[in-house]
Amino acid sequence: MGFQISHSNKQKVKPFFGRENDDSDGTINGSVKGRELSPPDVAGYDSWLVKHPSALNSFDSIMKEAKGKKVVVFLDYDGTLSPIVEDPDKAFMSAEMRAAVREVAKHFPTSIISGRSRDKVKQFVQLNNVYYAGSHGMDIMAPPRAVKSCDKKGNEGAFQPAKLFLPAIQEISVELVDKIKDIQGARIEDNRFCISVHYRQVPPEDHEILKEKVKSLVENRAEFRLTQGKMVLEVRPSIEWNKGDALNYMLDTLGFSNAKDVLPLYIGDDRTDEDAFKVIAARREGFPIIVSSTPKDTIAWYSLRDPPEVLAFLLRLAKWRKSEMPFFK
Ligand SMILES: [Mg+2]
Repeated sequence: MGFQISHSNKQKVKPFFGRENDDSDGTINGSVKGRELSPPDVAGYDSWLVKHPSALNSFDSIMKEAKGKKVVVFLDYDGTLSPIVEDPDKAFMSAEMRAAVREVAKHFPTSIISGRSRDKVKQFVQLNNVYYAGSHGMDIMAPPRAVKSCDKKGNEGAFQPAKLFLPAIQEISVELVDKIKDIQGARIEDNRFCISVHYRQVPPEDHEILKEKVKSLVENRAEFRLTQGKMVLEVRPSIEWNKGDALNYMLDTLGFSNAKDVLPLYIGDDRTDEDAFKVIAARREGFPIIVSSTPKDTIAWYSLRDPPEVLAFLLRLAKWRKSEMPFFK
């Protein structure tokens, strides 16, 4: 069968790094503990790094700015907290990364924002002290203690601006399964408020055919649009709501929307994260950090090379916060 509706399982796999326009496995001159080899030099990376300095190398100046202010942390999942893998169901985060995120979330309000379904991200992350925003921020749930009006099931903390689209999304999902059933390696992931069609395992000669098929399904539905991520096509409701809106919504929910002493820190690796970077850039305060080991167009001010550098950054952030406790009000 050429397609699958994905379900998560616990089998571990070796990270897959040979992907198009994507991260390679490496560090900046061994700056991450436990990684000895420098990566092969990628053309233009050094000059790109001048424009988007390493958040690790710039840590002290970043934190100088943050001193005495409230830092609110936003993290993408795939390619940021977990390596990009061939099978999207196996994009597990390491125990070290989970511990680091837990520690960061003890000190800063922390949200995970992903294109995946909220439930799937929660299955991967397995933490109870963070906000989860699935479907590119169209499905937000606060941690139970953060929502005063939360019912026993914790349902009242949910915010779902695309709820009305659910029946149509399910209809498209069924049609998609039929439409691409003959394309070897294509995988459909039901993210509840958006549908992902992964083609990392589809032979390159079939990529265009797959894209045309998916496009033809969306073309006659004005209320939906097609977006492109890393080796993934996504069918999404045509509502003006993206990761940037989700970031604003969560700042608002936390009571920080007009606060002058709040600095949002957002780490992400994909095109959809640029919407959140834009929001921070418009505020002119905060830390938009892109994860990339190749030069790419971005409005992020800082960069980290790959998930191991994200881990190193989060560990430093948690450590810094502990030393700054008296300044946090
Ligand atoms: Mg990502």
